[in-house]
Amino acid sequence: MTRRRQIYEGKAKILYEGPDQHTLVQYFKDDATAFNNQKHDVLDGKGVLNNRISEHIMTHLTRIGVPNHFIKRLNMREQLIKKVEIIPIEVVVRNVAAGSLCKRLGLEEGMQLPRSIVEYYYKDDALGDPLVSEEHVTALGWANPPELDEMMSIALRVNDFLTGMFAGIGISLVDFKVEFGRLFENDILRIVLADEISPDSCRLWDTETKNVLDKDRFRQDMGGVVEAYQEVARRMGIMPESAGTDQKGPRLVSDQG
Ligand code: C5P
Repeated sequence: MTRRRQIYEGKAKILYEGPDQHTLVQYFKDDATAFNNQKHDVLDGKGVLNNRISEHIMTHLTRIGVPNHFIKRLNMREQLIKKVEIIPIEVVVRNVAAGSLCKRLGLEEGMQLPRSIVEYYYKDDALGDPLVSEEHVTALGWANPPELDEMMSIALRVNDFLTGMFAGIGISLVDFKVEFGRLFENDILRIVLADEISPDSCRLWDTETKNVLDKDRFRQDMGGVVEAYQEVARRMGIMPESAGTDQKGPRLVSDQG
């Protein structure tokens, strides 16, 4: 048996070469890291849940015309994606004050922001992913002005979609992070959504109780991380009601296709 070639290993995912030169296989690990890798743990079943949750969101985004790299889920932990050139910028959209915004500006956590705020962070572990301005992004050539406009516009459309989707299942979308890539299709360069959208990359609070249903449970040692991700998946309708917290690892409605 020939072993497929690993292209890249990140903190929570591995990319392998795909069946052809235009595709990759994205593998979701159970690893959780925070504070630039200073905190690390392995959370049984997290990768399976994020694969399924991200598939669900990307599939719906495709349906509403938001271009993204997702092609199809292959199995419990892997999905087939389009090979893109990743733009080294993390785009964060915030609806409610939390996390680094509160630390930086002294805002009260939970404050509804007057309007959604888009921020850019330069992807560089050694620098701790610093906050940068549009000027930095364009002047230093990480993305050109039309690309940046497109990233912002897609990020806001994703925010509209996710806010509505989560509101419908009693979850407030506090903030989230997305990444983008360049994709050549018929000689035309397009900006598409890449990476993943999951409770690892979003802040999700139960609308009624404000219970935290995202990676902050891991960052803040709150426990019940996988159970919270299961709850998100259950409300999204991609896990059976019976999938309680007592079983080992998550059980999905369907493992295939
Ligand atoms: O830490 P901060 O408040 O800036 O995070 C904003 C949002 O971006 C959160 O939802 C967080 O989970 C996400 N994020 C991420 N990956 C990072 C930094 C932040 O998914 N490297």
